[in-house]
Formats: sequence, structure tokens, C-alpha cells
Amino acid sequence: MPRTPARLDFWTRLLRRLPWRPAALGPARPIADTLWHETLAGLPFLQRCSPQDLDRLRLLAGHFLDRKEFHGAHGLVVTDAMAVAVASQACLPLLNLGPCPAVLRWYDDFVGIVLHADQVIAPRETVDDDGVVHRYAEPLIGEAMDRGPVMLSWRDVADGAAAQEAGANVVVHEFVHKLDMQDGVADGCPPLPRGFLGASGHRAARNAWFGVLEPAYEAFRERVIVADRFGGPRPWLDDYGATSLTEFFAVACEGYFVLPDRFRTEFPELSMLFDAFFRQFSPGPAPAGS
Ligand SMILES: [Zn+2]
Repeated sequence: MPRTPARLDFWTRLLRRLPWRPAALGPARPIADTLWHETLAGLPFLQRCSPQDLDRLRLLAGHFLDRKEFHGAHGLVVTDAMAVAVASQACLPLLNLGPCPAVLRWYDDFVGIVLHADQVIAPRETVDDDGVVHRYAEPLIGEAMDRGPVMLSWRDVADGAAAQEAGANVVVHEFVHKLDMQDGVADGCPPLPRGFLGASGHRAARNAWFGVLEPAYEAFRERVIVADRFGGPRPWLDDYGATSLTEFFAVACEGYFVLPDRFRTEFPELSMLFDAFFRQFSPGPAPAGS
């Protein structure tokens, strides 16, 4: 998830056009029954959630919609159905991270969500060891900017059901990056709770985290390299996860949330690590009318 001056310029221009507003207080805007059921029908992986989890996800998504501002790029009209589809998937990683709506503080560093009709071609620039500047175009289906908006290609969000078998989900990917960024650096490790995995301090907790994530990343990267060079079988999950530890964390979370049973089989240690982080909170039933 490199940061380039070109990208920052792009977002700076865009941010000036966003209709910012303060986070709303009070009860969440209710998501209508029909709209919610249509959303669930389009996202099969959500249907494996318990009825209680779905009730809380719906409530959380309502609070999310109250606090965020959607913007359709280049005239794209963002419908309620599009906003609810994004909100419900964006809130999935938060479902057991804390009580609703306080858990939304994980996303407090931004308000704007920018939907493009399709992929965005972003100008990129790198400088090699000889000082030669290389300019190229990179297609993006989503991007999360530190303390800035989230950009998503609606076509790829809408393909969420089709992407499920590949363990892919662009909304989960970008919003997990947001979690990762909350301690000021996107390095594949979100802020960990006190005493995480029995660790005595912050550093020990991070060591425990990377002690599981890094070997899983190295093994995944090795399998991608063998597939590329020698025609070996391609690993499950997007090859993009082999580009960095940060991207591996986001790609792995896609599989964890979309196909948890397969993820547990393919990455058993990582599955337990993610359980320890994403299931910190065990709520009771949502109180009526909250
Ligand atoms: Zn990413």
C-alpha cells in the first residue's frame, strides 16, 4: 500500500469537494426491512451469521450510515441499496470488537466514502536505484487513505457474491486497512488490546501477533513465487497478499470474514490469531430501540 505524491494530490483535490459534516449523535437511522433483506440476499457470506449477529450488524450499519458521507464520483448516483451494501460489509470486522455504537470509533478518522462506477486508473511514480523515475498507471478497485476517505469501485463491490468463493471482498480489505492504520502505521498489526494472547505489554503483544502473521505471510509468498516461476498450484486467496505484510493482513482478513471455514482449514494458526483479535467482545442481544 505505497503512498505516492500523485495519490496524495488526487485525494487532496477530491477532499475539497466532499460535503463534510460532523458525526451524527443519537439513535441510528433504521434500515428498512426490505432494504436489509435485499442486502443480505446479495451478500451470501453474511447469511452464515447468527440472527443475533445480523441484528447487531444491521444496527451498527445504521449508525455507520449516520456518521459517514457517501460521494459518487463522476456523476455516479449512490442509492440507499449501495450505501447499505457498503456499510454492512464495512461493519463486519467491528461486530465483535466492542459495543455498538462505540466500536465505530475505529473509523472515526474519516467521514467520506467515494464510490466510482468502476476501477480507477491511478498515476504512479517510482524511482529506481539509479535515480531513474518510472511512471506508470495502476488500476485500483479500492483504496483506504490514512486519516482520509475510502475509495471503492462499485462494480467490484457489487461483484461481492461472485468474489466470495475466491475469499475476496474489497470492502473488508479496505476497512481492515483502516483498523491497521489506527496506531499511526499500516504494518499489518492493528492496535492490540491490553493483555492480548496473555502478553505482558504492548511490545510482547505485537511480537505475538507478528510471530503468527509473518510465517503465514512468508509461506504464502513462497507459494506464489513457486506458482509464478515453476507452475506450482496457486494458493487460495489473492496473490496481491504476497506484495507485503500489510497487504497480506488485509487479504487474509477477506478470506477470514467471507469464508471462515475454509480459512480455518488453510490458515489454522492465523484463524486463531484473528479470532483472538476480532472476537474481543461478546455482546448480549441488542437492546430494543437502541
Ligand atoms: Zn490493500
